Amino acid sequence: MSEQFDTDVLVVGGGPAGYVAAIRAAQYDLDVTLVEMDALGGTCLNRGCIPSKALISAANVAHNARTWSEMGITAEVDVDFQQMVEWKDDVVGNMNRSVEKLCKANRVSLVDGRATFEDEHTVRVERSDDNSERLTFEYAVLATGSRPIELPGFEFHRSGVHDAKEALQFDELPDSLVVVGAGYIGIELSMLFAKLGVDITVVEALDSMMPAFPSDLVAPVSSAASALGIETNYGELAAECRSTDRGVSVSTEDAESGERRAYEADGVLVAVGRTPVTETMDLYRIGLEPNEDGFVPTDRYGRTDVDHVFAVGDVAGEPMLAHAGSKEGEIAATEIAGRDPPSGDRAVPAVAFTSPQIATVGMTEAEAEETEHTVSTGEFPMRASGRALTTGHTDGFVRLVSSDDGVVLGGQIVGPEASELISEITLAVEKGLSTEELAEVIHPHPTLSEAIQESAANDQALAIHTLNR
Ligand code: FAD
Ligand code: NAD
Repeated sequence: MSEQFDTDVLVVGGGPAGYVAAIRAAQYDLDVTLVEMDALGGTCLNRGCIPSKALISAANVAHNARTWSEMGITAEVDVDFQQMVEWKDDVVGNMNRSVEKLCKANRVSLVDGRATFEDEHTVRVERSDDNSERLTFEYAVLATGSRPIELPGFEFHRSGVHDAKEALQFDELPDSLVVVGAGYIGIELSMLFAKLGVDITVVEALDSMMPAFPSDLVAPVSSAASALGIETNYGELAAECRSTDRGVSVSTEDAESGERRAYEADGVLVAVGRTPVTETMDLYRIGLEPNEDGFVPTDRYGRTDVDHVFAVGDVAGEPMLAHAGSKEGEIAATEIAGRDPPSGDRAVPAVAFTSPQIATVGMTEAEAEETEHTVSTGEFPMRASGRALTTGHTDGFVRLVSSDDGVVLGGQIVGPEASELISEITLAVEKGLSTEELAEVIHPHPTLSEAIQESAANDQALAIHTLNR
């Protein structure tokens, strides 16, 4: 450890980007201090990925039990939402303790408080017990994450107006909800609550749900949402929210005509994106300024314009995904330790935990056509997968996009367990494998992973269980 400073590496923020950076730096024998002002695990563990996926799993159990009479199962399902939330809180609590143990076992010093910079090598930590301490550091890693965007007129402190964190913590299930924004959070949570019997009305500014994903991947999700009774209203901007006896009245404006409509419900969930958190740190004192989108700009190793300061995770830019942040944390720590950074182009998968799930990595066919001479695709429909048939989930398909020499450039999946299946395609993209190599590998039967093998074979007109084009 440097004699000149209290700690070699100061990490600000204990989310999946920050705690991973801290542990990796400590594994490389650096003295590390991690400052967290709320709960270890950040948004992801406490109010994001983990609690939402826990409740989605629970809602799926209830929904399947209600709807699978075809399999010979009929059940009266009672949902005790409080118990469901308690179970979810236990999952979160367990993981909080694990993160703390892992940090301590790796000799990361944990400090509970808010870190504000005083100068380029000094931070003041205001602790929750009202005491504060000063720490000097050689390197800093900013990992302060993001928070939900607040729409004017839909301030989160208002009664009946909720962000995702509150929705994952409802005391009781509302009868009805207006959901503003049909992106990741809007659709994952709309489907979750619809499966628990909540009447959902979605309002989205653009002309489809999940607009960031290709439309043929979204189509099965859109049909499933209609089947759940979710009402979707596209091309409408949320404009105003009034409190009513019942709860709220949300007025929208048609994006083209300006025509106004109103939707009444017990409450409104606003999920219109997230914005980076930088204002907690007094960044100007270390000579850093966020860019026009509010992110802290970095190079590919996470280094900011100030040489000894790194930024990782949501605060450093898109994609705002937990696994992307964790990898950025590892890379920054490796760079600080002076070790060789991991090689590769870093394919970043994206997954929507909808029903069915959507997962993508690398290029779509249209994106590949912009850079490649010839692009080919191989596809396999889930309804032709023996395993999909045995689970009762047959909507969707796997698609592989490859270059003229067969190297896999990307993949898209919509269907059961897409979130798990995408890792094989991610490996192929990251390591430059070809469809021929994927098709050669023996995949266990009966599994959904055979759909990847078959789409690779389909790319070479050699699929067995679907007709080749
Ligand atoms: P965060 O997790 O936000 O952590 C930042 C931490 O910094 C916070 O704990 C905060 O308290 C702390 N902090 C801030 N300022 C200071 C300061 N000055 N001093 C000390 N501490 C400070 N991503 C996925 O990949 N998969 C999913 O399924 C998924 N689901 C999501 C569901 C929801 C409902 C939400 C809201 C998000 C979801 N995300 C998901 C996104 C994911 O949560 C974020 O990408 C991820 O948490 C970002 O990690 P981070 O470490 O950069 O920041
Ligand atoms: P999002 O960017 O996914 O979706 C926001 C949606 O709101 C967009 O479709 C946008 O057109 C719409 N919108 C914006 N302003 C509007 C208005 N005034 N009226 C109507 N619609 C409006 O954002 P999100 O759902 O809030 O999620 C935030 C981020 O969190 C995501 O981008 C993602 O990075 C992360 N996240 C990831 C996952 C996952 O990986 N499964 C899950 C949840 C969240």
